[in-house]
Amino acid sequence: MPSVISTDVLIVGAGVAGLWLNARLRRQGFSTVLVESASLGGGQSVKSQGIIHGGAKYALHGALTGASEAIADMPRRWREALAGNGELDLSGVRLLSEAHYLWSPGTLAGNLTSFFASKAVRGRVDQVKGEQLPPALQDKRFKGKVYRLAELVVDVPSLIQRLADLAGDGLLAGQTIEPLLEAGVLVGLQVDGREIRAQRIVLSAGAGTAQLLEDLGLSQPAMQRRPLHMILAKGPGLKPLYAHCLGGGSKPRITVTTHPAADGQWVWYMGGDIAESEGVHREPAEQIATAQKEIAQLLPWIDLSATQWATLRVDRAEPLQTGLTRPDNAFLAEQGRLLVGWPTKLALAPDFADRVIASLERDGIQPQAAEPLPALPKPPMGVPAWEQLLP
Ligand SMILES: Cc1cc2nc3c(=O)[nH]c(=O)nc-3n(C[C@H](O)[C@H](O)[C@H](O)COP(=O)(O)OP(=O)(O)OC[C@H]3O[C@@H](n4cnc5c(N)ncnc54)[C@H](O)[C@@H]3O)c2cc1C
Repeated sequence: MPSVISTDVLIVGAGVAGLWLNARLRRQGFSTVLVESASLGGGQSVKSQGIIHGGAKYALHGALTGASEAIADMPRRWREALAGNGELDLSGVRLLSEAHYLWSPGTLAGNLTSFFASKAVRGRVDQVKGEQLPPALQDKRFKGKVYRLAELVVDVPSLIQRLADLAGDGLLAGQTIEPLLEAGVLVGLQVDGREIRAQRIVLSAGAGTAQLLEDLGLSQPAMQRRPLHMILAKGPGLKPLYAHCLGGGSKPRITVTTHPAADGQWVWYMGGDIAESEGVHREPAEQIATAQKEIAQLLPWIDLSATQWATLRVDRAEPLQTGLTRPDNAFLAEQGRLLVGWPTKLALAPDFADRVIASLERDGIQPQAAEPLPALPKPPMGVPAWEQLLP
């Protein structure tokens, strides 16, 4: 029979939200256990594009909303953490790009002028030209305008690895999760038959949270999934590009990030509008053909001849929204000892941790003396999509 564990905070789901929270809590002296049923970061987190948004993309709707102002501080907080002097020590995590770019293919000047003149955007973007352009756009045939956003792009696999290191002995691989009740009150969870008691239980299981809530007999908070059909390309003709290409609508026409594959080649990972609405309904071959056509039209100098292609279907998991507005803050709901939430963006993992810590403070939860943890079975690391799909 596995031993009973008592901990301050029991977290379920080791994507970026659970891992970041876990590291913050441990730094503040709380004992924690973080349970993962599959692989660390292997849900949405390692499938994300790694852009640490500051909200500029959302300003395309017109003005930045109050909510998107909350995201504006995220690049600074991540920068400090990556430099080793922030709320977490993330030194050693690979930064893929110091900036993300907005690129207009040339036909949208009017639209963009008013956008860049808006008060919300001023001071956050600079136009770049010539040698300052992202390498993939440095061609004499390039006609568009490019703006540098004060947003970074991180290598998510190395981020997850660092956060897993900061988790120390607190990671637990566990599949079956049942409520641990005392007089009808939730006091912890049974994980694969092992009792884990905790002052607070946090569900940060991404798309798995809906099922966990059902298993606990709860129907709130409700979750929504937003399906995406991403495109991947790997080949010698691809140079680094981290950019939203504008298409005139409220969403980028295509968002390209570039990731290092284990064999030393660059992988273009493509999302944005192409991966949403219509893209979700395309068959993979059709989705690849659509991306090839977009690149041929937008960047005709890119040599795609020896390029391998794949697509990836993945859902974003978020709190249910009324209407089609996109959540721009981390979300957290509280019910007794149970806290349930979604960061809604990788970039907002610090905001998610803030909200949990604020809840602990409001409820007067303090670190309690904890027994050392027994040796626990560890979950494996999540593997990036390009290593699985483009070996
Ligand atoms: C294609 C794509 C691109 C994106 N790009 C960006 C971007 O560039 N910038 C940005 O800020 N955001 C981006 N996002 C959003 C971002 O990836 C997510 O908001 C974020 O990763 C969610 O983190 P999470 O920890 O909540 O969820 P996840 O990373 O999904 O982690 C949840 C974890 O819980 C585990 N789990 C599930 N059920 C259980 C269970 N019953 N028991 C134990 N564990 C369980 C899962 O295995 C998983 O490891 C993107 C999302 C997608 C899909």
